Amino acid sequence: MADDSAKANETSANEKKTDEAVKQEKIKPVRTKPPLKIFYHWCKACNICIAFCPQKVFEPDRDGKPIIARPDDCTQCAFCWLHCPDLAIVSTEK
Ligand code: SF4
Ligand code: SF4
Repeated sequence: MADDSAKANETSANEKKTDEAVKQEKIKPVRTKPPLKIFYHWCKACNICIAFCPQKVFEPDRDGKPIIARPDDCTQCAFCWLHCPDLAIVSTEK
């Protein structure tokens, strides 16, 4: 019984350490779902989002449309969805 309690305390302490490390950005949080939704039927492959994303989150597919290649790098800065001329990008987190 005392063992279980000690393990629970240890787990809780480890979770706190992890939260602290994430806060201090020592560990990058991993997303479980894409940070953005792209409406490909509206996208005209103008390249604005791919070229100007400050985190280089996108890579072009063979038609020049953006693929979310590095979702964990997205900072939700809003540049892409505010500048997309066809309103083809929305955030899934804001
Ligand atoms: S929100 Fe900002 S960081 Fe995220 S994909 Fe768009 S431009 Fe890049
Ligand atoms: S800015 Fe919009 S229209 Fe242009 S490539 Fe990106 S999603 Fe497509």
